[in-house]
Amino acid sequence: METYNKKLIVITGASSGFGLEMAKEFAKDGYPLLLLARRVERMEELNLPNTICRKVDVTNKDEFEGAVREAEAKYGKTDLIVNNAGVMLLGDMASQDPQEWKTMIDVNIMGVMNGMQIVMNDMKERKSGTIINLASIAGVQPFPNHGAYCASKYGVVGLTKVARSEMSPFNVRVISICPGAVSTELLGHTTDQNIIDGYNQWKESVGAVNITANDIAQTVKYAYQLPQSVLLREVVITDTMQDA
Ligand code: NDP
Repeated sequence: METYNKKLIVITGASSGFGLEMAKEFAKDGYPLLLLARRVERMEELNLPNTICRKVDVTNKDEFEGAVREAEAKYGKTDLIVNNAGVMLLGDMASQDPQEWKTMIDVNIMGVMNGMQIVMNDMKERKSGTIINLASIAGVQPFPNHGAYCASKYGVVGLTKVARSEMSPFNVRVISICPGAVSTELLGHTTDQNIIDGYNQWKESVGAVNITANDIAQTVKYAYQLPQSVLLREVVITDTMQDA
């Protein structure tokens, strides 16, 4: 195994939005990276140095773990995993297809738990490491049409707190980042056009349109680059003009 100055960072959902910006931000600082998502070509197009890109569905733990072990064989153990992959399928709870609920629970909760379990034992043994989970402001307060999405993100906030208490005796940091609305591809998967239009109208009417995916990526990087002894436990970050 070659020796690298910086330690391995794993980012899930690196094919768009926050994850893609994180990949670029961390690459600027010279970290070796493992980028994971289903659209592998989007990550390969970035052409980042010391980077492995793998087509992985985070709900498939074996596939996920296989990619992490492959990157670790090349770059050394994972020092940071960002469990960022997520889906938001907004819908009226009274009529939404339960399959959409299941997709959100599987990706947003099981995907994060898979990612945590894959690195936890090694981090405990090394008494070092950082886990950053992308929750949401929808994990700390309710929003209409966000039933299963809120359930999944409240879930992420809850499981992050449990993991924090389990990992803090081992000097491992576990962090949740809870962004407000930021323009990415996330809203595009919602199947109800009226809900998409209403969401966009709200954002524009209050003027909450200036925060960017790169702002979130820089916040993640800031939290990670603090000393290992300093833990930014939970960050709620929104556009200044967001009113809820
Ligand atoms: P995007 O839709 O732009 O990105 C989501 C990423 O997740 C994509 O790279 C997608 O890649 C990946 N992904 C989705 N499902 C899977 C899967 N099953 N396996 C692997 N990768 C998957 O959204 P954002 O960048 O906005 O969202 C990133 C995270 O931030 C999400 O967890 C989201 O809930 C959260 N968030 C976003 C907010 C926002 O307003 N944008 C606000 C608060 C939280 P691919 O489809 O190629 O697999």
